[in-house]
Amino acid sequence: MRWSRYFLYTSKEDPAEAEAPSHRLLLRAGFVKQVSAGVYEILPAGWRVIRKIESVIRKEMDRSGAQELLLTVLNPAELWKETGRWDSYGDELFRLKDRNSREYCLGPTHEEEITDLVRRFIRSYRQLPLILYQIQVKFRDEKRPRFGLIRGREFLMKDAYSFDTDEMSAMMSYETMKFAYDRIFKKLRLNVVMAEASVGNIGGSMSHEFIAPTEYGEARFGYCENCSYAANAEIIPLPKPAQESEEERPLEKVKTPGTKTIEALSDFLKVPPRKILKALLYRVKDEWLMVLIRGDREVDENKLEAVLGTDEFRLATDEEVRELLGTEKGFIGIFNLPDRIRTLWDNSVHGVKNMVVALNEPDWHYVNANPGRDFHYGEFADLAQVADGDPCPKCGSPLKVRTGLEVGHIFLLGTRYSEPMKAYYTDPEGKERPIVMGCYGIGVSRVMAAIVEQNHDDKGIKWPTPVAPFELEVLCLNMSDKDMASVAEKIYMEAEEKGIETIYDDREESAGFKFADADLVGFPYRIVVGKKVKEGKVEIQKRATGESWDVPVGEAVNRVKELIEEDKR
Ligand code: ATP
Ligand code: MG
Repeated sequence: MRWSRYFLYTSKEDPAEAEAPSHRLLLRAGFVKQVSAGVYEILPAGWRVIRKIESVIRKEMDRSGAQELLLTVLNPAELWKETGRWDSYGDELFRLKDRNSREYCLGPTHEEEITDLVRRFIRSYRQLPLILYQIQVKFRDEKRPRFGLIRGREFLMKDAYSFDTDEMSAMMSYETMKFAYDRIFKKLRLNVVMAEASVGNIGGSMSHEFIAPTEYGEARFGYCENCSYAANAEIIPLPKPAQESEEERPLEKVKTPGTKTIEALSDFLKVPPRKILKALLYRVKDEWLMVLIRGDREVDENKLEAVLGTDEFRLATDEEVRELLGTEKGFIGIFNLPDRIRTLWDNSVHGVKNMVVALNEPDWHYVNANPGRDFHYGEFADLAQVADGDPCPKCGSPLKVRTGLEVGHIFLLGTRYSEPMKAYYTDPEGKERPIVMGCYGIGVSRVMAAIVEQNHDDKGIKWPTPVAPFELEVLCLNMSDKDMASVAEKIYMEAEEKGIETIYDDREESAGFKFADADLVGFPYRIVVGKKVKEGKVEIQKRATGESWDVPVGEAVNRVKELIEEDKR
């Protein structure tokens, strides 16, 4: 491909609001273009990457015995009503009507449609097990579409569904998919951690997430280097600590002017944050909830959601705090609470002694408040975010906690869909039984972003060779130099002939411009045709490591071919 003819337009400017490196770089490098919030076009170079990701996925899915098909984007509402998800899916579902007022949604996932398909053809245990999959565009009206391809409202997913006669057999399908995922992510050169995940409210029995560790990521996970336990942070339990043994000191009321944060209060009183009782006021639907947690801990809102059984909650506003408690944030306490405020005590505050506690009076705190004597516990729950160093629930060693991107999610569904949709088969005794299902997703477009998150520097992307849009760039430093241009042309032709995916930067631009673009777009190898052509030499550069080699013109292509083959092995 000649760059002068290629639909690949880079930009020097950093797009506003693009926080995540992948978002910024994929836009700047001309791989994607935003159409509206969370909606992106994938441009030719980006599409080449996607196609490669898809092809890795296809190969491994096919190899594991799964069969590809293509379901529809337009899903009739009736199917979703059968499982109750027409209502429960909420605002994330894009709903629409056709000209005859028939209702549809744009598929955000396809359990309903595939279960409908399977119940029409599968009658007997002899037809099971079965795994079907598709690579399809999905639609979800996300509350916060952000980070470019990472959280889109329209995105590409590989979704697979398994159908088995019983739990045991379903577990085997699940294991088969686990192995396939392992191979897929290795081949994509994506570093992932397989973490135990919440089974949520679907009522399934097992779930794992494949999380790519990245600096920008919405998923938090903990892992143990001792026993190899790994789980999404939201399901890592933090039990109640043992009773502290300190002597109880007398309660004192202390003026703490302007100490609105734990940090400020801790500095002012010279006590560690763990000795401060933090109180947070939440609005839950139309009720009030106060969460009490140790000052060195944060509330994990996913844990809170699991405990409350709803995601309809938010922190109270300054105004609401004033109205309800007559105080300011920073001075919210457990004293003189109106009855209609429910309290939940995080496990972390169990057994504490001599705490700093606010009393709903601006600029004042109690010090040396003790449970039982000065205040009383209520209902306990596990609400705190897991942090680095917390104990592994399996072996007690300190956990490491990191952020990442969930690139895949596998799920043992059981009969959550087959029961309500009456997807039954007949067993050898002639008895009708519900099919046992599993579902398995990979965020294809999110994978592209995750690869960039894990492979970039200040200058741009460093595509791993197996997923690079082109394997080689031939860069001619000066197109008006006839010698250079003709050598570059020759090398380009030879590389194409030898089956290397090559882009030839034949644009009439300065050397500096071309180098900057090459770094930004990030093709794994570069053959630079410059002044050394006079000595019969060109330079090979490797983007990932910055290594470079001067080689004779006639050997360059073969050398690059070897390097590429090595990378792909
Ligand atoms: P998340 O917790 O990130 O919202 P999810 O649990 O809703 O993910 P699944 O329904 O399991 O995701 O979808 C399967 C895969 O699809 C996810 O593992 C993720 O890689 C991808 N995915 C989900 N939502 C999006 C999105 N809005 N944009 C891009 N990819 C997505
Ligand atoms: Mg989601």
